[in-house]
Amino acid sequence: MISFLNLNKLNRPFEEAFQKKMKDFLNNGWYILGNEVKQFESNFAEYCGTKYCIGVGNGLDALVLIFKAYMHLGKMQKGDEIIVPANTYIASILGVLQADLVPVLVEPRLDSFNINPEEIEAKITSKTKAILPVHLYGQLCEMKAINAIAKKHNLLVIEDAAQAHGSQLSENEKAGNLGHAAGFSFYPGKNLGALGDAGAITTNDDELAKVLFSIRNYGSKVKYENEMLGVNSRLDELQAAFLNIKLKHLDAENEFRRSMAKRFLSEIKNDKITMPSWDLSKNHVFHLFVVRTANRIQLQDYLKENGIESMIHYPIPPHKQKALSNWESLSFPITEKIHNEVLSIPLNSGLKASEIQHIITVLNKF
Ligand SMILES: *Cc1c(COP(=O)(O)O)cnc(C)c1O
Repeated sequence: MISFLNLNKLNRPFEEAFQKKMKDFLNNGWYILGNEVKQFESNFAEYCGTKYCIGVGNGLDALVLIFKAYMHLGKMQKGDEIIVPANTYIASILGVLQADLVPVLVEPRLDSFNINPEEIEAKITSKTKAILPVHLYGQLCEMKAINAIAKKHNLLVIEDAAQAHGSQLSENEKAGNLGHAAGFSFYPGKNLGALGDAGAITTNDDELAKVLFSIRNYGSKVKYENEMLGVNSRLDELQAAFLNIKLKHLDAENEFRRSMAKRFLSEIKNDKITMPSWDLSKNHVFHLFVVRTANRIQLQDYLKENGIESMIHYPIPPHKQKALSNWESLSFPITEKIHNEVLSIPLNSGLKASEIQHIITVLNKF
């Protein structure tokens, strides 16, 4: 069976380096906000081309803390509205809700799966304070159009970059530096994945960064002095150590994923399967390779019979989730179509050449 994502295999090349780090970590005896976190914050800020990186506990907290920090700075308040794509992973929505803000859903484009900038302006009200573009499946949103709308209406742009580490428009325009602030997740399955929960925020904003460094650590800069009401959401020292090792290989991982996606796009020819749209540039890091088909269950069963595991990202849109039953009556036809038709095909550097070929052959015969 070709598994969808074998993390053990993906992390195996780093095992020796991890073990050495683990040993250093034990010898060192500094477990919270130590040198590894500092190093990673500096490395990742440099990688994204931002002035600051603030390590936090996970990707959801990254989003929540960005909103809370803006609230602390008086840039938004309880009940304000945030524009989000209707077809995102639930964490983007929860990030807004946990900060006592109101998510306003906007339809994506069917071909890119990303928020449709043409639909944003109609949803802006006097309460709108920010747009939260989600670079879904690893492909950058249309940031030029989104930033132009934000500028016109004086809104903040907060990227949910949890699936897009390393996606770029150009050398100086990378996920994480395309808005006012960005949230990243290093959940193990992400392109840059830790061996547990981890996340980060990037920004060029001095004031915001200052608040974030404090808010993630009990609202405290100087031990036992609390300048604001913070939380405990620190990037774990050991995870930071692992991430420092893996960050050096992120570009290679992304390049491998892009070359594999190119093969899929040129070699899979099947009228029953709609392939993802991509301009072959570095604006996509293929966190997921997502196709659409009218007969999804049939395709998934067929793949399984042929030894290929596939997954659905995501089977139920946020507005149809039980947890958000107050949104039950909302209607987002494009979002619903996407959620009914998408299927993710295995794509990552853990796959052997023969396995990649098998996936192509099997999909062509469906
Ligand atoms: C993974 C993910 C998150 C949340 O990350 P966690 O580290 O699991 O909290 C947020 N947004 C998107 C789009 C994600 O894919």
